[in-house]
Amino acid sequence: AALREGYERFDPRAYLHNNYLPPRADFSSEEFVVPWKLRCLAETFASGEIRGRTLIDVGSGPTIYQLLSACDHFEEIVATDYLAVNREELGRWARGDPGTFDWSPFIRHVCKIEGRGEPWQEKQRRLRQRLRRILPIDVHQPDPLGAPLHPKADAIVSAFCLEAVSPDRAAFARALAHVGSLLRPGGHALLLGALGESFYLAGAAALPVVPLGEDDVRGALRAAGFGLRDFRSYAMPPALRTGVDDVDGVFFVHAQK
Ligand code: SAH
Repeated sequence: AALREGYERFDPRAYLHNNYLPPRADFSSEEFVVPWKLRCLAETFASGEIRGRTLIDVGSGPTIYQLLSACDHFEEIVATDYLAVNREELGRWARGDPGTFDWSPFIRHVCKIEGRGEPWQEKQRRLRQRLRRILPIDVHQPDPLGAPLHPKADAIVSAFCLEAVSPDRAAFARALAHVGSLLRPGGHALLLGALGESFYLAGAAALPVVPLGEDDVRGALRAAGFGLRDFRSYAMPPALRTGVDDVDGVFFVHAQK
């Protein structure tokens, strides 16, 4: 209930400002956190192994960076969020409405690290075209989308959602299992998340986060029936500890159901 109340005050603009502008979104060096996240995803999708019809992004929030490398490999991308304000923000971006957040530095950077010489506008167009559905979701429900999914997704992405909506480690593990039920056997899960974080700010909202260690993430994956393919972690440098949260680091996981 406390979490739900916190999210009623979640301000998408403030959240974007805190996390997706400099100093965290600084593309001049790979030591900053946003380029690190984008490289994890770009390198993982570069293998060509993760592909199919549908990819579901769980808890998209107001952001699309997590879909930039993914969108080349799926016919349809489904974005999801619990909050209408975030779904509306994503819808405005997908339609190309004026005044939405400028993701072009992210798109340019991903095109650069993917190294195929693709013009960034091309990737933006492809993502907008494939992002056909933006759905409500609640990861605390055994069927997070409200009904069992048929057919199941070929892959899921989830970034900074499960630990940010779970009151404790047991709830995090249950939420991961719920999300895993959206995936077909053999399907891939790519997770980014916060390590050792107890809160983050989004305007007037201060959201509690369950502080996770690397072993909590590994244990929850195993319990949810995933095999671990890759685990990476990033230590938040002092210069990026800006007071918008108390995050210690970031994990990246590639797991397979
Ligand atoms: N994926 C984005 C946003 C993460 S912030 C990023 O990488 O930055 C956490 C998100 O979880 C918010 O958008 C919030 O609205 C969403 N959320 C809150 N409660 C939720 C729930 N019960 N189920 C799924 N998502 C939820």
